[in-house]
Amino acid sequence: MNKGVKRNSKTIYFDNAATTPVDPRVFEAMKPYLGKEYGNPSSIYSLGRSAKQAVSEARGRVAKVLNADPEEIYFTGSGTEADNWALKGIAFANRSRGRHIITTQIEHHAVLHAAEFLEGQGFKVTYLPVDKKGFIKIGDFKKSIRKDTILASVMFANNEIGTLEPVSEIGKICRQKGIYFHTDAVQAIGHASVDVKKMNIDLLSLSGHKFNGPKGVGSLYIRKGVRIEPFIHGGGQERRMRAGTENTAGIVGLGKAIELAARDMERKIKRVRSLRNAALRGILEAIPDVIVNGDLNKRLPGNLNVSFKYVEGESILLMLDKLGVAASTGSACTSGSLEPSHVLLALGLGHADSHGSLRLSFGEQNTRKEVIYLLKVLPGIIEKLRKMSPLRENKGRR
Ligand SMILES: *Cc1c(COP(=O)(O)O)cnc(C)c1O
Repeated sequence: MNKGVKRNSKTIYFDNAATTPVDPRVFEAMKPYLGKEYGNPSSIYSLGRSAKQAVSEARGRVAKVLNADPEEIYFTGSGTEADNWALKGIAFANRSRGRHIITTQIEHHAVLHAAEFLEGQGFKVTYLPVDKKGFIKIGDFKKSIRKDTILASVMFANNEIGTLEPVSEIGKICRQKGIYFHTDAVQAIGHASVDVKKMNIDLLSLSGHKFNGPKGVGSLYIRKGVRIEPFIHGGGQERRMRAGTENTAGIVGLGKAIELAARDMERKIKRVRSLRNAALRGILEAIPDVIVNGDLNKRLPGNLNVSFKYVEGESILLMLDKLGVAASTGSACTSGSLEPSHVLLALGLGHADSHGSLRLSFGEQNTRKEVIYLLKVLPGIIEKLRKMSPLRENKGRR
């Protein structure tokens, strides 16, 4: 452990949308490839072939969960890389057909910043707004389609507010219009059914560490026949599309993790949703002036996002951390100033309410006891912060 950081020995971890702990079974599956199975998958002797076989099995596992063919699965260095590849790879391979891309205002920065980069390269991008609950409107989407639209990138599930976007409808429209459809499904794997064939998805990004796999490995599904540029040039790995010696252990871990995530998913969804709902009920019962962000039905089962009026998210996080609870907020302190979340602003929240947001994301390893502990400490924290809050005085509430 890093000796520079003091930390409670037992963290109550409610930040599963940021990352998840590696499942012990995943760790066991990875171990041989960090040890005696060190061969390069490209080598022809048995040590290499054994690594190649392991990569190929992992590819099969990812394909099975997505209802894709193994040849349509490419491993990447992260979910961010998969998103970048999808946008840039499609844009550069299809620019003779058109230069217009459609995406949304609530995408992860991996998509948003890749889209902004492409604007600088002469592409035109439409950033669709969302309604108060966080959904894009199909009507808006249809209206935004132009003759030169080549790609639509709409996330499967939002990482901050958990909303499940209408991907099936978007997929259908894109297929009819001959537009490539990419979805960032990093948050969805293990928490929602994903079927690339049924949903007419051409490209899909995922990331190992969001479903109890290792960090630093992701995957991009690319439907057969899609025109896309390679992402990294070099050796012939990943069918000459993403060069670089394979991260064998990471890929094996991702494969094991996605298999476990898909197994028994309905039961796990129920359990995690019930923890989330218990937390929400408890918060609403004990704390006044709370806004629930996002929709309560079409939502990831483990996601809860609320704004506490008159307080700042970062202060809540620091006080929770002192009590051993890890969570997240929509306001990120970048270069000394508080930046409100682009997702919460897109919902129409003001800056103050965006700053007062708290995201709790529940996972398989969480327990009811932990939720009870949270509900024991949170009301006191909010009350204390509100007593100190200048925002509250302005409202004439003392
Ligand atoms: C975490 C996340 C990513 C980035 O994945 P990394 O593997 O951490 O790079 C992209 N999109 C969404 C929606 C995410 O939640």
